[in-house]
Amino acid sequence: MVKSDTFDVVIVGGGAVGVTLALQLEQLDYRVAVVELVRPSFSSSEPERVIALNYGSRAHLEKIGLWKQLETSGVGNIRNIVVSEAGNRGRASLKVSELPELSDFGYVVEMGLLLEPMYQALQASSVTIFSPATVETLFNGDKGVDIKLRLGDSEQWLHAALLVGADGTNSQIRRMAKIAVCGWDYNRFGVVASVTCSQRHVDVAYECFRHAGPLAFLPLADGRFSIVWAVTPAEASQLMAMDDECFLSTLRRAVGTQVLQQLDSFTAVSKRALFPLELTIAKKYTVGRIALVGNAAHTIHPVAGQGMNLGLRDVDDLVAVLDSPLGRTDPGQKIVLQAYSEKRRADVLAVVGFTESMLHTFASRLPVLKWLRGWGLDKLVSMPKLKALLLRQASGLAQLGGRNE
Ligand SMILES: Cc1cc2nc3c(=O)[nH]c(=O)nc-3n(C[C@H](O)[C@H](O)[C@H](O)COP(=O)(O)OP(=O)(O)OC[C@H]3O[C@@H](n4cnc5c(N)ncnc54)[C@H](O)[C@@H]3O)c2cc1C
Repeated sequence: MVKSDTFDVVIVGGGAVGVTLALQLEQLDYRVAVVELVRPSFSSSEPERVIALNYGSRAHLEKIGLWKQLETSGVGNIRNIVVSEAGNRGRASLKVSELPELSDFGYVVEMGLLLEPMYQALQASSVTIFSPATVETLFNGDKGVDIKLRLGDSEQWLHAALLVGADGTNSQIRRMAKIAVCGWDYNRFGVVASVTCSQRHVDVAYECFRHAGPLAFLPLADGRFSIVWAVTPAEASQLMAMDDECFLSTLRRAVGTQVLQQLDSFTAVSKRALFPLELTIAKKYTVGRIALVGNAAHTIHPVAGQGMNLGLRDVDDLVAVLDSPLGRTDPGQKIVLQAYSEKRRADVLAVVGFTESMLHTFASRLPVLKWLRGWGLDKLVSMPKLKALLLRQASGLAQLGGRNE
């Protein structure tokens, strides 16, 4: 006989966004299940899959009791951000000391180290985990959502008042719910690697803009940098095929003299990995009794390192509407999910707008625009109000206003 079970909320996708949501809903006494395609692995990969979390995301993880363990396992601190353009004058240095409320703009965290305490907390909680499992059938009905899971040789039906798709960029739940997407393929790849310099970093992140796209250096806990280098498909295949020495000398040329002076010399590079860069935004965040969170709802360019931060803010807003009297009556009802959808749209559009404007500003080769960019970066240093605004956006303080008070 096929087994069946009933939950208040079923979350499909056990990445950082889905698991954070599960933990928070369990704390509100919701009966929650997580369905994850693959058994999670926390071991370190080469190159490390790292993520820059801003101060707002730290506040989120502190609230649910996960920050201390993460900090103990090792995080890179971002206390200074240097923005420059290779082959152009002008350089903006943003220092955390200019925001008295903060000690760090953000933190560079290895994905395995982020997920491990999350899964430990999940296992110690009342959340039911189905993994490895896939969703075979989905009915989005008026009274609830029914899904049939495939777990190896067995099958199981789950019924829930609310189904959340947290299953990443190629979300199966989004497809099954027939939610259309908009966006584009940037025709760029992100080459990711960890780079050792002759001296350890001093908690500085570098964002070097190039015509093909940005090249970011994120300070790791062990003194190296994790780089994310946006390149054309042709450049990507060349960079992946190069030996380490050739890769490092190409990196030296790409980074521009301003940054190179600060980093001294690159001495070693890890294995490299490649990610296609795309913009994919769901046209709706909810349909019937289904809601989307994280990359299932929005996959953005990593230039501003905001994807995970945005996903954690989805969680914050969904938890807030489910914690309301209406949410507690029926977490999947239309009025509750509409409130979530409305809250998210403005934030996602603002981040996409900011990311796209950064990409377009630095993409043009017109000499006059190039001159203006150099002038603008230099001028930023002498515009304290604009600088403070940028700093509050980058650190997540701007979006935090009102959430944690
Ligand atoms: C190169 C690069 C650099 C980045 N750097 C940053 C950064 O510095 N800062 C930042 O904030 N963001 C960054 N991002 C974005 C960030 O990685 C994502 O926004 C974030 O990981 C999304 O989390 P998620 O939990 O929504 O999705 P995912 O991490 O993709 O998790 C989805 C989960 O769902 C599971 N799943 C998938 N399909 C199914 C299915 N059919 N059934 C069940 N389970 C399923 C997967 O196994 C996975 O566990 C970067 C992205 C890239 C590509």
